[in-house]
Amino acid sequence: MIGPSFQHSPDAVWQVYRSELERAENVHVYLWANAVGFDTDPQGVRVTGIPVKTLNGLTFTVKARYYVLSAGSIENARLLLLSNQSVRAGLGNQHDVVGRYFNDHPMARIGKIVFADVGEALEGPPKSKGIRGVLTLSTAGMREKKVARVMGMVSPVSKMTTRQALSYFWKTSKRIWNNEEDLTEKIASVTSAMGRLQNDLGAIHGWSDTQAAYLDVVIEQLPCRDSRVTLSDEVDALGLPKVVLDWRFVPEQEELTQRAFQLMAEQIGASGLGRMQITESLSFANPSAFLFRSSFHHMGTTRMGTDPSISVVDPNSRVHTVDNLYIAGSSVFPTTGVSNPTLTIVAMTLRLAEHLKAKLV
Ligand SMILES: Cc1cc2nc3c(=O)[nH]c(=O)nc-3n(C[C@H](O)[C@H](O)[C@H](O)COP(=O)(O)OP(=O)(O)OC[C@H]3O[C@@H](n4cnc5c(N)ncnc54)[C@H](O)[C@@H]3O)c2cc1C
Repeated sequence: MIGPSFQHSPDAVWQVYRSELERAENVHVYLWANAVGFDTDPQGVRVTGIPVKTLNGLTFTVKARYYVLSAGSIENARLLLLSNQSVRAGLGNQHDVVGRYFNDHPMARIGKIVFADVGEALEGPPKSKGIRGVLTLSTAGMREKKVARVMGMVSPVSKMTTRQALSYFWKTSKRIWNNEEDLTEKIASVTSAMGRLQNDLGAIHGWSDTQAAYLDVVIEQLPCRDSRVTLSDEVDALGLPKVVLDWRFVPEQEELTQRAFQLMAEQIGASGLGRMQITESLSFANPSAFLFRSSFHHMGTTRMGTDPSISVVDPNSRVHTVDNLYIAGSSVFPTTGVSNPTLTIVAMTLRLAEHLKAKLV
């Protein structure tokens, strides 16, 4: 049940690859150049160019045989939606799927694991590394019990200072209180934030059980058609419509997630590892009351599939209705699991590159 630890890379991609990109003879990089949509033929089945604008007023058009849109999940949907000269609903949006099924990985600190015997495990890693243990349920177990996929990250309790703990409590309470929710929801959420404050301060000052570790979870969002990116009436500095993001969940999300936590708690208990204490309550119908946040993993707005009524790109990542337009990035993910998306994005982009290379030679 306990998976390997992982850690973040400290390097920015641009710093690592800049000189390689500068040396490459078949790559041209234009910085500060904003694609503002797609020019197409009158039927909208071929892209004929990408108009580009800069903030200081330069304009030009990029022309190619094949085009790959890779502007991130929100911008990918936006650029298709605002390219509505030949298809009124937006390029590739004949079936009203572009922008839909927006997914992220909801993330929250839901409680603690109190270990039966920690040994040295909770002393924590060297400060510069930030390594955490990861717990997950087996795929077979999740299938058998029909639960949502969740990943638990276990981290030592002594990470926060008193100031950080108080600041978190203050910010959270203010956020909850400022929302237009009913009083019962507010009180429940503020009480749960108080519980966390008690834990944090207890750990810092040695009042609480040092056998415990925080449990942060990442939850698989089940695909939801109503979770979507649309265009706003407001425009940006280039005169393009801004986006509206409406992040929503299917009604089953709550129960299937609760059952996954329950199963995880049972397995931790049965293995003799310790006890799982859940202190947060989940509310996907009312995300502002539950203390989860985005993992900054935007996914799903131009999902891949064979049926154009529920997908935007085909299995080769080509927009179903456009002969020479492809999409790279997590906007093509039809489902999103709990893992960080970028390695999968890179793998799928390499696969797309091979596909296009075969067409170009
Ligand atoms: C704080 C943070 C932490 C993260 N941590 C992780 C992690 O640990 N592991 C992980 O796997 N993922 C992580 N992610 C997610 C990861 O950053 C994304 O999955 C990844 O960057 C997506 O790659 P992409 O190339 O599809 O899109 P992006 O990296 O978003 O690149 C899109 C590019 O398109 C450009 N662009 C957008 N619109 C236009 C336009 N109109 N014209 C021209 N250019 C345009 C943007 O400027 C940008 O350079 C994190 C994200 C954030 C914000």
